[in-house]
Amino acid sequence: MRLPVWGQTDAAVAGASQLLLGVDYYPDQTPEALWEEDSRMMSDAGFTNVRIAEFAWGLMEPAEGKFEFAWLRRAVQTLHKHNIAVILGTPSAAPPPWLSLKYPEIVEVNAEGQRLHSGGRRFTCPTNKVYRRLSLAIASEMARAFAESPGVIGWQIDNEFTLSSSPRCYCNFCQAGFQEWLRAKYGSLDKLNQAWGTVFWSQSYTDFGQIPVPLPSGGDPNPGLALDYDRYQSYANASFLEEQLAMLRQKCPRHFVTTNNVGPPVDYIDLRELYKNLDFVAFDNYPGFFEMLVHEQMKSGSISAGTISTATAMGHDFARCVKGGKPFMIMEEQSGKAGQKTFSPQPEKGQVRLWTYQAIAHGAMGVNYFRWDTATFGAEEYWHGVLNHDRSKSPAYDEIKQTVKELKGLGPKVLNSGYPAEAALIFDYDCGWALQIQPGHHGLSYMPQVTAWYGAITASHSGIDVIQPGADLAAYKIVFAPVAYVLSEAQAARIRNFVQGGGVFVTSFRLGVKTESSQIVRTPLPGLLREVMGVSVEDYVPIYSVKQGVKFSPPFAGSDGECGLWADILQPSGAEVVGSYTAGEHAGKAAVSVNRFGKGKAVYVGADLDAASLARVLRTLTASAGVQPAIDVPAGVEMTVRKAGDKEWIFLLNNTSVVQTVTIPRAFTDLLTKDAHSGTIELSGYGVRVLA
Ligand SMILES: [Zn+2]
Repeated sequence: MRLPVWGQTDAAVAGASQLLLGVDYYPDQTPEALWEEDSRMMSDAGFTNVRIAEFAWGLMEPAEGKFEFAWLRRAVQTLHKHNIAVILGTPSAAPPPWLSLKYPEIVEVNAEGQRLHSGGRRFTCPTNKVYRRLSLAIASEMARAFAESPGVIGWQIDNEFTLSSSPRCYCNFCQAGFQEWLRAKYGSLDKLNQAWGTVFWSQSYTDFGQIPVPLPSGGDPNPGLALDYDRYQSYANASFLEEQLAMLRQKCPRHFVTTNNVGPPVDYIDLRELYKNLDFVAFDNYPGFFEMLVHEQMKSGSISAGTISTATAMGHDFARCVKGGKPFMIMEEQSGKAGQKTFSPQPEKGQVRLWTYQAIAHGAMGVNYFRWDTATFGAEEYWHGVLNHDRSKSPAYDEIKQTVKELKGLGPKVLNSGYPAEAALIFDYDCGWALQIQPGHHGLSYMPQVTAWYGAITASHSGIDVIQPGADLAAYKIVFAPVAYVLSEAQAARIRNFVQGGGVFVTSFRLGVKTESSQIVRTPLPGLLREVMGVSVEDYVPIYSVKQGVKFSPPFAGSDGECGLWADILQPSGAEVVGSYTAGEHAGKAAVSVNRFGKGKAVYVGADLDAASLARVLRTLTASAGVQPAIDVPAGVEMTVRKAGDKEWIFLLNNTSVVQTVTIPRAFTDLLTKDAHSGTIELSGYGVRVLA
């Protein structure tokens, strides 16, 4: 791994450790008289760094062009005095009132065509040139003021792009930006009209200036236009970031630069595009808050065991793979009750430590806890930090201090190590967006499908990368691609070569339905992969009241399965049928097939299987591809491996509150306790072991 500039020379980051084990701090919200005490206490707790100022635009530029950094300089100096390094946030996620009042055109227009109001955060347009100019101006002044400041080590640009109740903007500026982007993409209107099929509903464009954005228009938008608009909004946010990045590279060449996000489906942006030129990925991780949101959406009932830890693990695997496996950072880690109008409970004893180790186990190199003290004012006054409202230590304070000490003990070699995986799961934004535009069934959406597959595969603990569709597949033994609804020719060719060369490719219903322009292919489905899969799709069926069952044959034999939302009815043309529908007019027709193609295998799971059946099918395939876990662990325990050269570290995480016992194949030392273990090893409730 190429070390970022800031990691190459210790001298460049005087006083700062390469370790990023910190806390998010708000000197702008804290009386200056407390900064010294805060810095001393942070140092006592073992923290190496803070992130500050990402919401302090109003204090840094109280009137247009009038910059005041003296207070921030004093804060940085106080922190630095106590060996706390500083990541500075540029403040473009929340402009001050003078700005949005003077330039009301910068305020976003939502999907209903209504202009938002200022007063919250993330209410601005990503395209608007005035807002870009003002955002770049404040960031440039910050960079100029702090480029050589001792203690400053890096930057976070903006904060959580697109994380808002209205994640995309539909204003006139975005429309003009979209038209310009389309001109660059298609070159000519003929090409664009062909690609979208605009002859439908008399939508052929004779001037780029006629092209609308997908606002309510009495009928659904053209699917090609809608998908391109999702891509444009992703581009607009990424290019907004790039303006600040180019400036920071020039003014602060010795500092690292990143931005923070929470990952799909909450961010409406292609994070691979956003992080392309940044030094590393930074994620925000709130498992307890996420659990609360899931509860709120469900209205009633309970979440099945492992749902939250599985979704969080997938987020980490995704974060690691955004930049091809490079270690990432958690910029905000939940440290207490979390939320705004409603909030999650205090994490149980051991959970904050467990969540921290889960990130490290999946490839994180550093963690910042959110936040230092808990605000007594503002929209996030119930978002609890490491200190309580009365500045006493929070229930998790000692646990966080212990975790930071332990991670320092593990050291940079472990924290910067790699994550070997022989299996991969393709996550394709195009498929997610296209399916959101036309789900086919109101219950069908991409993220739950991908998460269900991730959960079924990783129940075997063999380690998996969550990769982009353009990634090189050669390194993997088995590749999964559920609901690969949009399939490019290049991607189909990569999959074909992968299977031909001996790989196992596993996919599901709705394969290869759409071209990159979101037109339906003109060949029998699954289109470009028909020969590789050895089947044609005879019919595709959204399921409402007429239920389907699935009966399996070897190697998947077991209880009959249920088919949930969707059934692709398969017609084999060379593939072996290993699962058939059992009810309704399609009874006896093929539901699951395996095709030998070249040296490999292509598996089509045509039915939306229940969790148990899906787990049996995917686990059987993973094992038969020769992908094995380093250690077998019981349900509720997570096991991952990190690796550097011939050194290997095994992480055992108990995601349950009860004691668990793991049988280990040889003698190990627990690096956290220095104890030697053989035979079996115990994990306390929410306990963690790091074995070498
Ligand atoms: Zn806009």
